Amino acid sequence: MSSSKKSTGKQLQDKLTFSFPSIAMKDPDRVREAFAFCEPYKAFLNNAKTERECVSEAVRQLEEAGYQVFDPAAGYKAGDKVYMNNRGKAVIAATFGKKPLTEGIRMNAAHIDCPRLDLKPTPLYEKNDIAYFKTHYYGGIRKYQWATIPLSLHGVVYKKNGDAVTIRIGDDPEDPVFYISDLLPHLAATQNTRKLGEGIKGEELNIVVGALPYPDEDIKEPVKLMALSLMHDKYGITEADFYRAELELVAAGTARDVGFDRSLIAATGHDDRVCAYPALRAEIDTKKPAHTTVTVLTDKEEIGSVGNTGLNSDYVRHFIEYLAENAGVNYKDVVKNSLCLSSDVSAAFDPTFPDVYEPGNSCYLGKGCVLTKYTGARGKSGSSDASAETMYKVIHTMEKAGVYWQAGELGKVDEGGGGTVAQFVAHLNIDVVDLGVPVMSMHAPMEIVSKLDVYEAYQAFKAFYK
Ligand code: MN
Ligand code: MN
Repeated sequence: MSSSKKSTGKQLQDKLTFSFPSIAMKDPDRVREAFAFCEPYKAFLNNAKTERECVSEAVRQLEEAGYQVFDPAAGYKAGDKVYMNNRGKAVIAATFGKKPLTEGIRMNAAHIDCPRLDLKPTPLYEKNDIAYFKTHYYGGIRKYQWATIPLSLHGVVYKKNGDAVTIRIGDDPEDPVFYISDLLPHLAATQNTRKLGEGIKGEELNIVVGALPYPDEDIKEPVKLMALSLMHDKYGITEADFYRAELELVAAGTARDVGFDRSLIAATGHDDRVCAYPALRAEIDTKKPAHTTVTVLTDKEEIGSVGNTGLNSDYVRHFIEYLAENAGVNYKDVVKNSLCLSSDVSAAFDPTFPDVYEPGNSCYLGKGCVLTKYTGARGKSGSSDASAETMYKVIHTMEKAGVYWQAGELGKVDEGGGGTVAQFVAHLNIDVVDLGVPVMSMHAPMEIVSKLDVYEAYQAFKAFYK
């Protein structure tokens, strides 16, 4: 219907009211672009399932794109690209801008650690002729979701002589996988009376690693010995080496398209690789930015950004200090004029469980990246709560670039909540707001995102760096 035929009320409504559009309804070409963008995203998901693997893959892509290891003593000019690897578990990449550093940097921070099951320091034991690993879960998980699914094992083990052994087993279709058992329904009458949160308890997240004995009648715990013997054959490690290890279990297998229309992707650890990948791509694709870009792929967000590879440490601050010293300017003048996107996921509205969402302030699959003014719980506690000025800058950038975005909040007030790295960026005296991708079944072994939203995150990040 042409506007001339619209009633005055309808015209006024068009002028005064606002709602976020469905991308597919409005812009079919954009859907095709999004599908193409997500093919390499799926490959990234498959190659990089842990923070260490994400750093290796990011460094590979950065070096391929001409990035050099950052040298605080070197001289840099606009367009130069550098990176800094923080202990193999976090990475910072930067492209020098045309403007002086005192006009601020444009920073994008996403995290590359995901909820998972870590091995305990003494993991291996045998019980009733089965060998197991004990685990301690990492991040917020719903424990019952992790039983009876195939799991893969990833990480690094240091041997006594200092040699590092990289372990990655369970994702190749030829590999064995690992498994947590649950009761059969026939015998679950008592377990069924447990609350859902205790359906599987922490000490029941035990990983089956073998069921054959070492063939020697004189041996106590022969199944444990058999497992150790096979690990020794394959990796050259012994039981004592587990004390010098970081080993993580995640859902086995590859990222898969979901639905007849293939518009969604199911994968382990979208949170937050679904922001880390577009952030990395935007960083690499930015050639001569106005402001210097600083892309941070950080660790430890899921357990509170702790540790020296998490954002509640000074490693990013030190990098910016190096940039300032290198340019002969005051660090404080750099940060106070800087702007950061804290790129993290939000909870997509789930029509099967509508009660925990406030529909007018939720994000939806297929409506674009989600701008979240504040996160937190119990009255915004633990959030950074971006200013109207910061909201203006980021929304203006997205509108100018034609990015499809939506505003969101993490569920109903007082239903729960969560935090991001935004508060730690704000602590540096940098303006910051959360911008990310809606995720359904967040923190489950397999999560779902819309390809359309992943692409809009990339578009937003690219426009932010322009
Ligand atoms: Mn996250
Ligand atoms: Mn998370």
